[in-house]
Amino acid sequence: MDIEQFRKAGYAAIDRICDYFYSLEKLPVTSKVEPGYLRKLIPDEAPENGEDFTKIADDVKEMILPGLTRWQHPSFFAYFPTACTFEGILGDLYSSSLSNPGFNWSASPACTELEVITMDWAAKLLGLAPAFYNASEVGGGVIQTSASDVVLVAVVAARSRFQRDHPDTKVEDMVIYATTQTHSLAKKAAIVLSLQVRSIEVKSEDQYALRGDSLRAALEEDAKLGRKPFILIATVGTTSSGAVDNVVELAAVLKDYPDIWFHIDAAWAGVALACPEFREQLYLPEINESATSVCANFHKWGLVNFDCSAMWVRDRRLLTDALDVTPIIHDPSDLSFVGTAIDYRNWHLGLGRRFRSIKLWFVLRSYGIAGFQRHIRKTIDMNNLFVKLLSESKVLTLFAEPSLALTVFRITPPEGVDKFSAEALSDLNARFFKVVSARDDIMLTQTSLNGHVCIRFAVGSARTEENHIKQAYEIVEQEAAKVIETWRQ
Ligand code: PLP
Repeated sequence: MDIEQFRKAGYAAIDRICDYFYSLEKLPVTSKVEPGYLRKLIPDEAPENGEDFTKIADDVKEMILPGLTRWQHPSFFAYFPTACTFEGILGDLYSSSLSNPGFNWSASPACTELEVITMDWAAKLLGLAPAFYNASEVGGGVIQTSASDVVLVAVVAARSRFQRDHPDTKVEDMVIYATTQTHSLAKKAAIVLSLQVRSIEVKSEDQYALRGDSLRAALEEDAKLGRKPFILIATVGTTSSGAVDNVVELAAVLKDYPDIWFHIDAAWAGVALACPEFREQLYLPEINESATSVCANFHKWGLVNFDCSAMWVRDRRLLTDALDVTPIIHDPSDLSFVGTAIDYRNWHLGLGRRFRSIKLWFVLRSYGIAGFQRHIRKTIDMNNLFVKLLSESKVLTLFAEPSLALTVFRITPPEGVDKFSAEALSDLNARFFKVVSARDDIMLTQTSLNGHVCIRFAVGSARTEENHIKQAYEIVEQEAAKVIETWRQ
């Protein structure tokens, strides 16, 4: 393809993408293709001779679109919706057209410098303390691929610091601290790094949040056993129910354990810090005071297309001490700026990195702080509407306190049934979830909170409006009533 052919195909691609977005609401949310469907449509080998691009683009429509789960659909309430904006799409287009793996400042100065600046914009947007700004030249921010990568980086750096300060520590004694509600990223990091993870129990009366007394009890028990906890992953907005670990209490306990790295996983809820009214409940003052590192995914609720996981650290040297590997080919030491520029290759796991800050820059500039806050507030208002509708339902009930834009609910134990065991109720809810999942006009996810199966409803798509919430409520209410009716027979 030459430049003029690209111009033509590019305009056509934008037209096709716009048509897709216009049709989105009328399309099913979920795909009903069978596993292996694409093998039947696409040859086993690449073509011998190049094909016409219009035909290739037609095949996207014919073969790929039917096999998509439509995360951008206004009735997608599963997992945590990943907001996708046109500004973000354009950012990715520019980024891939520039194709720059800016691992060192000198490998592409604009890539590094825009990331340095936009990460400070993002830190200010969320109200993080100046200690986390790149401008501090001590702390700083970096864009990682995912919150799981952020944790891997944090664990590697925490392990390295702990081993530096306690050289006699045996790796097999080192423990990552998390809770039963922590995202699977903690276990993943433990597998990758051959470490142990301790998942501390949380209580329903604490809304599944980790409290200081449970943390202290675990620490004291492990101290007796000679185990060495070296990082605590606290979650601000858990995946299952949006629980917020009690950062005030945890920070108070960790004052007695200064060697433990305090990571805040706010992958989902972190972007809500953009609105000052949510900062207190998300413990921003204490995060600013005591966190060693913080993660917020702009690619979830934060309007930036996947991937854009923001990580801030209070001390950048902890990353570079752990991750700096500098063969001569990557050594910029012949250049005059040494020491003043960031080489992001030492802040993440790989070497080459995508130019992701460009899409963050586009979104923050185009929405502005006010537009970003409007998106967060609007989705929370819509979740509140869902909660209000639930409160009037005879067949559905809240299972945990609603958290920002997430509601966890389940079927109300049927009336007239005296003894309905916890297992039976979980079975009923699992059946309810199956029925809802069989539909293609809505998508939700199930979870289990301390063994109780329930359903999650997460609002976050930039395209969801009040009518979609009301429609979703009607669907779950009707399906729940039918499941109860069938159960009675
Ligand atoms: N942390 C929390 C609280 C999450 O809810 C999720 C995903 O839903 C993650 C981490 C993982 O995010 P990522 O896919 O960016 O690794």
